[in-house]
Amino acid sequence: MVVSIHTLAGAALGALTGNPLGAFLTGAASHAALDAVPHTDYRTAAPGVVDGLLGLAFLTWLALVHPGGAAGTAALWGGIGGMLPDTEVAVSHLFFKGRMKMHFPSHSGLTPHPQVPPPRGVWTQAIALVLAVVLLAARLA
Ligand SMILES: [Zn+2]
Repeated sequence: MVVSIHTLAGAALGALTGNPLGAFLTGAASHAALDAVPHTDYRTAAPGVVDGLLGLAFLTWLALVHPGGAAGTAALWGGIGGMLPDTEVAVSHLFFKGRMKMHFPSHSGLTPHPQVPPPRGVWTQAIALVLAVVLLAARLA
């Protein structure tokens, strides 16, 4: 899935834990779980850069605005946990032409990472995005 959805989903699920460490680990676990959902990833680096910046902007908003008190702090750490695994993907595509060895389970091939063509692969991401936003909004309200 795209990194901004990983970040939102990690934040939403991390907020449920109520503590930073649990949130971070939940966010990272959600990354592998969402990568197992059939989806369409972009094929060039440029959309990934924009997507990564959107994810970072969202994390910055969580850090600066502190919405939801303890749940907001957990959301921040969950979002970091959800986003962090794609750092290796960004480094690989930006500096090694996509040929760097991956270590995160859903990137290395240890766990599933099925690709499906649009529109189905876009719809699965749209559904994940809506669920994450609704869950996060409810948790931070
Ligand atoms: Zn990933």
